[in-house]
Amino acid sequence: MGSTDCLFCRILAGEIPADIIYESETAIAFRDINPQAPTHVLIIPRRHIATINALDSGDAQQVGELFLVAKQIAKEEGIAARGYRVAMNCNAAAGQTVFHLHLHLLGGRDLSWPPG
Ligand code: 5GP
Ligand code: ZN
Repeated sequence: MGSTDCLFCRILAGEIPADIIYESETAIAFRDINPQAPTHVLIIPRRHIATINALDSGDAQQVGELFLVAKQIAKEEGIAARGYRVAMNCNAAAGQTVFHLHLHLLGGRDLSWPPG
């Protein structure tokens, strides 16, 4: 799948604007267009990976980076001490709507458990 077919690849290509708050050689983070909490950031690999099911052992460092970016942004957003959630939906039954791997970072309010 190339940049014309995937919404997040198009954001990465600069074809669709986004509020990008972090960039590295291999990942970016931007604010969710429909935030579900005061802080709602999406952290994505630059490389197109459709779902968790498409990951292999060679992706371990890439996935680890997403979590470390979430930790850093949580600190910057002032939500680290109180608490926050990171979540990654896989396929339709879990609510995945954009098929480019993304880690949700949610915080700034109390979050109920379990999620729906
Ligand atoms: P999913 O449901 O796949 O786990 O999460 C996809 C997320 O992408 C949703 O929270 C949705 O609000 C967000 N989203 C969809 N389209 C756009 C967009 O064009 N820009 C941004 N910043 N977020 C988007
Ligand atoms: Zn993509």
